[in-house]
Amino acid sequence: MYNINSLKAEEFICDKEIQDTLLYAEKNKNNTALIKEILLKASKEKGLSHREASVLLACNDVSVQNEIFALAKKIKEHYYGKRIVMFAPLYLSNYCVNGCVYCPYHRGNNGTVRRKLTQEEIRREVIALENIGHKRLAIEAGEDPVNNPIEYILESIKTIYSVHHKNGDIRRVNVNIAATTVENYRKLHDAGIGTYILFQETYHKESYKKLHPTGPKSDYAYHTEAMDRAMEGGIDDVGLGVLFGLERYAYEFAGLLMHAEHLEAVHGVGPHTISVPRIRPAEGIDTDSFSNGIDDDTFAKICALIRISVPYTGMIISTRESQSVRERVLSLGVSQISGGSRTTVGGYDSQEFEDDGSEQFDINDRRTLDEVVKWLMELGFIPSFCTACYRKGRTGDRFMSLCKSGQIGNCCHPNALMTLMEYLEDYASDDTKAVGMKLVEKELINIPSERIRKLAEEHIEKIKAGSRDFRF
Ligand code: SF4
Ligand code: SF4
Repeated sequence: MYNINSLKAEEFICDKEIQDTLLYAEKNKNNTALIKEILLKASKEKGLSHREASVLLACNDVSVQNEIFALAKKIKEHYYGKRIVMFAPLYLSNYCVNGCVYCPYHRGNNGTVRRKLTQEEIRREVIALENIGHKRLAIEAGEDPVNNPIEYILESIKTIYSVHHKNGDIRRVNVNIAATTVENYRKLHDAGIGTYILFQETYHKESYKKLHPTGPKSDYAYHTEAMDRAMEGGIDDVGLGVLFGLERYAYEFAGLLMHAEHLEAVHGVGPHTISVPRIRPAEGIDTDSFSNGIDDDTFAKICALIRISVPYTGMIISTRESQSVRERVLSLGVSQISGGSRTTVGGYDSQEFEDDGSEQFDINDRRTLDEVVKWLMELGFIPSFCTACYRKGRTGDRFMSLCKSGQIGNCCHPNALMTLMEYLEDYASDDTKAVGMKLVEKELINIPSERIRKLAEEHIEKIKAGSRDFRF
């Protein structure tokens, strides 16, 4: 029985409710009056329910589709302005005891080179990341209680925060590790993590069981209820995601929104981010065996619908996607992208590990961070290295209030410009710096409050003179 407030996976992600939603969407996909009503609701920028959003997803009318894209662009612009937050993944260890059939790190894959970074190697990786300008990381590790116990993850976080190289520091460490206990989530919270990210992979329980035949991750309920335990452990910011391509996308889309609705209903705060990975080729994985792949048009529609359904939730796209796909979805709602990524263990510090068989998936967008930053600016976006909210304690509902208050222009916008200026001063190539300086100058005048604008201008001058780390 569907119960949004239940803490049981099968009740808040109720299969019957998803099936009913898909039937409802199919029945109403040409219901012009209803679609008009849903679009009107979406235009108020307060979000849509999973049922409403599913009707729009099912509707193939081109004019409706265009309206969805236009709305997504408007909402993106309203809540996020032109900012795109930059981050990089950092792979700590690819030892894993799980049997996820779509991932090359699964236990049975003898073709993968297994590696776990020592604290000294982590330090070197962090220096390499700081040297190119990153301030925000997402650490990744397989599940392995012997090789990667929680103590290893905690020690690694401490190491990462302790490295200050030249003007570089990592100011926010997001964590993507397996579902764990409330006690361990509390430890992660106390270690000062940013967002806890855990992809559901698929919300379809039967498929989930087939895709995760062995290991602790095979427990669907334990995995699906992880975000509730994380929040119980004090982590306010959690990141959801499904791996598109494993199951039918309409099913996943409804499940994803139901999960977001559940978190909001129970904890008073929805997901901080939603990631939209699509399955990618990898060593030892036959991606042709997954028949639910989605084309670029459907992918763009999903991104746009997530944006209008959960306007306050950040959306993340990785280098799994090509430059052209990333470009398309940036204006439709994506607010965070990775750049200059390596998906190998130890790949930032040493070229030796770049193609050594320890990577999790093929990278599509192989440009450097500098190239990505320049490209974003030329498209009119402001690459942001801001981590201010987390460091000012604006997490969870406090972060959401900032979003809802409309103060983004007086907060995120100047923060983006100041952190971009740090990047330009410390790491950018001459060409990128030239483009960036003009952009910062042009965008400073778009800070609505005169007081904040003046302060931001002062801070920027100080950054040029060598000071660092200003924030609103
Ligand atoms: Fe392990 Fe995660 Fe890969 Fe599954 S997806 S095999 S849990 S690293
Ligand atoms: Fe994100 Fe907060 Fe910085 Fe705005 S001020 S960009 S919400 S971290």
